[in-house]
Formats: sequence, C-alpha cells, structure tokens
Amino acid sequence: MQLNYDLIKGLEQEYGSSFFLLDVNKLRNNFKKIEHAFKSRYENFLIGYSYKTNYLPYLCSQMDQLGAYAEVVSRLEYDLAIKIDVNPRNIIFNGPLKTYEDIETAIKNESIINLDSLYEVDNVIQYCLEKRNKQVKAGLRVNFDISNNGESPLQEGYEVSRFGLCVSNGNFQKAVQKLIELENIKIVGLHGHFSTRERKVETYRNITKGLCELAKQYIPDSVEYIDIGGGIYGELPSSFNLQIPSFDEYAEEVCKIMNAEFGGKPRKPYLILEPGISMVANAFKFIAKVIDIKTVQEQFFVLIDGSVHNVKPTMHKRNLPMHLVKKNVEQQSHAMYNIVGYTCMEKDYLAYDVEGELPERDDYIIFDNVGAYTIVFNPPFIKERPSIIAVENKEFFVVRKKETIKEFFNEDLYVF
Ligand SMILES: *Cc1c(COP(=O)(O)O)cnc(C)c1O
Repeated sequence: MQLNYDLIKGLEQEYGSSFFLLDVNKLRNNFKKIEHAFKSRYENFLIGYSYKTNYLPYLCSQMDQLGAYAEVVSRLEYDLAIKIDVNPRNIIFNGPLKTYEDIETAIKNESIINLDSLYEVDNVIQYCLEKRNKQVKAGLRVNFDISNNGESPLQEGYEVSRFGLCVSNGNFQKAVQKLIELENIKIVGLHGHFSTRERKVETYRNITKGLCELAKQYIPDSVEYIDIGGGIYGELPSSFNLQIPSFDEYAEEVCKIMNAEFGGKPRKPYLILEPGISMVANAFKFIAKVIDIKTVQEQFFVLIDGSVHNVKPTMHKRNLPMHLVKKNVEQQSHAMYNIVGYTCMEKDYLAYDVEGELPERDDYIIFDNVGAYTIVFNPPFIKERPSIIAVENKEFFVVRKKETIKEFFNEDLYVF
C-alpha cells in the first residue's frame, strides 16, 4: 500500500493530524505464519494472543475470529475479552494478581487459569473446599532456571524472574502437594513465560524442556497443556540489521522437544504459545504531521504532532524505521536533525540524529513497527489520544476515534 501525500492529507482531514494505522492484512498474515510454523510440526497447537501488548478491542476481536485464545493478565483484560464475546473457555488468565473473586469467576466460566503464587493456590483451594462437587482445573506458572552456561538471559539483566512458583526453593512442589490432596482439582498445565533480552531459540529449548520434565514428573496423568509463554521475535524491517530467529526456527526447536516427549502418547497435550510483540509490532504505523522546523544554535529540531509516548513509551534511544512524505517534492536539502514531540519534556525525542532530507512544514513522518506496548502503554499526557485507523484491502475505517476533552476529563470520574 502506497501512502502518498494526497492520501495522508485526506486521512488527516477526517481523523486529525496524527494517527495510528493498523494494517489488518498484515496482522492476519502474522497470525497465519506463526500458526503454520508450529501447527505443521505439532498438531495440537494453540495461540494465546497477549492482550497487554495491544488490547485495541477491534484487534482482539480479529484475533478471536482467527482462532487465537485471549491471553489476559488482569481482570480488566479478562472483562474486555468477555465484552467482545470471546468464549470464556478460550481465555487464558495469567498475571500475578488474581483475587478470590477473579479466580471464582474464571473457574465458573471454565477459563484456563495459571496460578502465579501460593496465595493464588490458596484461593483455589478455598474455592474447591467450598464447592466440593465441582471439578476444578488449574495450571501453574513455573519459575525455574533457564540460563545458558550460567548466564541469565532475562531482560535488564535480572538474575531471577519474580514470576511463577519457584522449583528450586520448593514452592512449586508445595503448591502441587497442597492441590493434589484435594479430590476435586486437577493440575492440567504448566506455564513458563520469561522476558529475555535476546529472545534466543536456545531459551525456548530450555523453557520447553523444563516444562516437559516437570510435567512428566509431577502431573503425568493430568497434563493437558504446556504453555511456553510469549516473547519471540516477530519479523523485523530489514533496516534493523539484526540477525534474529524466524518463526520456523523457534517452532522447529520447540516442536522437536514436544514430539520427543509426547509423540508416542495417545493423548498429546496442547502446546500453547502466547505471542504479543511478534503478532502486532509490524502491523501498526504512526503518522504525524510536521508542524515546524526550528534551529537552535546549529541544530535542527523537527516538531511533529506526536510524542515519544506514541512510538516508544519505554524511551529507548534507538531510532525506529521511519520515512518522510513530502508535500513539496522539488524542495531538497540534506541535513542531520532530531524529531521532537509536543510535550514539555526535554527528553521527548521521537528520533535522534536522523540524516537525510530535511522535512518542511506540512510534510508527514511515518514511523513503522509501533504496534507493541505503545497504544496500551501510552499515558494521555498534555494532549488527547490520537485516533486509530485500520486499512483492509485499501479501505480505511476508524477503530478508535480521536479523544475529546469530554472523554479525557470524563464527567463521571472527575469532580469539577
Ligand atoms: C507479556 C506477556 C506475553 C507476551 O510477550 P511478548 O514479548 O509481547 O511476546 C505473553 N505471556 C505473558 C504471561 C506475558 O506477561
């Protein structure tokens, strides 16, 4: 799809001078590629789409229609899945905070639920004791060592993950022991999601192996799923210049282990993957109008109708893939410039030291690969949230309107 100046100008008139653009076909392709890579190697495969990565309701509905389960990590996300008519049995309820009431709701609805700590185990036990003739199923999120040669692959260099029930200190075993004493509960799955820096294939080998071994040892007769979490790389624009594993490479390693462990069994457990970034990152662009080009001493600052919050809320310093759409194609002058946002923060840089054609007023800048942890992680700060438009087979339609002052300062919430 060619986003030329006149097309964007037309969209601006309808939706405002900055907006996100979701490419629906790209989203579907991501789903199909991930599904094919794994399912062609291990038949009992399920995708649980990670809501927190981008819980735009339209997108979550699309995921549901494609056959993905909803992977949620809070009651808010759980209730969103219900609101958009996801079958509650197709919801995977993860996350470190589930109240007794949350657990009760999820069990009644027969959702998949993975317990993160001993207090959640206690909540389930309380439920089972109260409802003796109800058969309950639960999974456990497991915390175990996934290091390669003693080096922790976790993000930010953490030595241990804070999530899940720890195997090495015995909490996992304690949880299993407490649960299997009850007549009316079965531990049906193990879950291991780890956020790692390099998203290596070896890490997924360690996760899958670790989960399979624990399942064979502790729940050999009741295991229905092995959930390896998310965190895999999606397809990246070539400008990133990164050597990353493909979906096939992840799938090959993980499915090889699953087939070796469960191949001969009459009832193979499901393999669950919970992709977030890899599903949505490259399906969104952010398009913003150039407001002004300011010079301070010898430096150029290109001010656009957007903010670093829109494109990289974590404020990392790497520039995203982006390009300029010019109003005036004849005008050309090369320079080095920074792209800055509308907030009053000094650090509101959408890009640093960009080399190339210097933008002019009324041009547009398109940022690519902005679908993950942007729209959801975006504090409405100083300005209303921009609209989100979707495009499918060259047709554009709005999936979130531009926010107004009335919605920003919701009269049901604020006292004036
Ligand atoms: C965040 C998260 C995911 C998705 O992670 P990505 O890195 O976006 O793929 C999957 N599962 C759980 C439990 C998560 O917390």
